Amino acid sequence: MTQYNETDLVIVGAGMVGLTLAALLAGKGLHIRILESRDIDPQNALAWEQSQRETGYDPRVSALTVASQQVLTVAGVWSGIEQMRLMPYRAMEVWDGEGSGQIRFDCAELHEPCLGHIVENRVTQAGLLHRVLSQENCELSVGVQLTELSEPDADAVRTLTLSSGEVIQARCVVAADGALSNTRRLAGIGMWEWDYGHHAIVTTVTTEQPNQATCWQRFTGDGPLAFLPLPDPHLSSIVWSTSPDHAKVLMELDDTEFCLALERAFEGRLGAVKHTAQRFVFPLRQRHAKQYVKAGFAAIGDAAHTIHPLAGQGVNLGLMDAAALAETIIDGLEDGVAWNSEYHLRRFQRARQSENLQMAATMEGFKRLFNTHGAVPILLRNAGMSLMNRLSPVKNHIVQEAMGLSGNLPRLARRPVRD
Ligand SMILES: Cc1cc2nc3c(=O)[nH]c(=O)nc-3n(C[C@H](O)[C@H](O)[C@H](O)COP(=O)(O)OP(=O)(O)OC[C@H]3O[C@@H](n4cnc5c(N)ncnc54)[C@H](O)[C@@H]3O)c2cc1C
Repeated sequence: MTQYNETDLVIVGAGMVGLTLAALLAGKGLHIRILESRDIDPQNALAWEQSQRETGYDPRVSALTVASQQVLTVAGVWSGIEQMRLMPYRAMEVWDGEGSGQIRFDCAELHEPCLGHIVENRVTQAGLLHRVLSQENCELSVGVQLTELSEPDADAVRTLTLSSGEVIQARCVVAADGALSNTRRLAGIGMWEWDYGHHAIVTTVTTEQPNQATCWQRFTGDGPLAFLPLPDPHLSSIVWSTSPDHAKVLMELDDTEFCLALERAFEGRLGAVKHTAQRFVFPLRQRHAKQYVKAGFAAIGDAAHTIHPLAGQGVNLGLMDAAALAETIIDGLEDGVAWNSEYHLRRFQRARQSENLQMAATMEGFKRLFNTHGAVPILLRNAGMSLMNRLSPVKNHIVQEAMGLSGNLPRLARRPVRD
């Protein structure tokens, strides 16, 4: 394969967000280099069916919104994902574990076929890899890291030195290398960050009763517990956010004890929890980059911000970043302006920073609301939830938000107008 030492765009990180940006820009006349530190064999990553047979469901799943589905459709990836495996969810039920407040959203009330899809992260990743690797102008290098990033020259071009010793000159570098982004650090961009005081346990569980194609979430003072439906009706993927000490205790339980603790915490809504797959735990931190762009540089996805998974919005925000950045670059190319200048890239920052900060503030608000103890706050919270459940306009607004259809959406995320 030709070794390019000059390129238009370098995307650091072949996660869901970085690959989505590459897929959206493929065919726009840019040469794109994608650098991934994991030594993955792309052909193996594509052999999804085989890995599925061997290891069952991926413990990491995402609730992809309708807006994210639209972005992945435009990127030419959604039909591939559909052919692999996904689960449309038709309802969401949220309730207060310390009272009677509850709210239910149903796609039928909105005349929609579903509210979103639960997709295993490795399925999304495989669909994206398949698309990106079939594009002539996209080149993926694995097992490499960025070790140095120069300041921009007068044309905003940056020089990158890789762990392999290769030196690349790029018109723009995109940090899509996740929450601990080294690329963002090399670009000299700091973060606001704080601990949520929660760890999240994720695993796949088998329940006595079917999941009813519903996303279930119980809020408690310790943190939210979510059951996300998988295509097998008796399987759900869980995200159990709780204090680090409680998470440690839960991780140390044997499978039978864990299933019992989970069933109690979930108030047995799906009957007995009969089986759990291997459990994984993630510390949860809120992070936000102080700026998303510089000359010849942009940060997207978790490299720019991380939020609490309680509303399942993390990767959805990242996909909106990818769409907004692709749009900014495409507009610049069409208008014949310096698309990699800080001035031009600020369009992307303006479009996304306020949306992402708003979502981060909402998640923080939710977390604090349900962390409040005492009879009066709990009573008010429950009354508020029950009232919301009866007020159609408020309910509709919340569900539009959950489907990713409200706010300032990138063009590439807007659904075509239906007849
Ligand atoms: C428990 C939990 C549950 C969640 N549930 C949901 C959900 O339901 N819905 C939702 O929308 N979001 C959810 N999220 C958030 C979501 O998982 C993340 O927002 C998403 O994975 C971020 O994608 P990304 O591509 O930005 O980063 P990553 O997935 O972190 O990908 C980064 C890529 O960069 C690579 N990389 C790292 N460092 C380097 C380097 N130095 N050089 C080159 N490559 C590098 C990594 O190997 C990786 O491939 C959840 C998060 C957690 C913790």
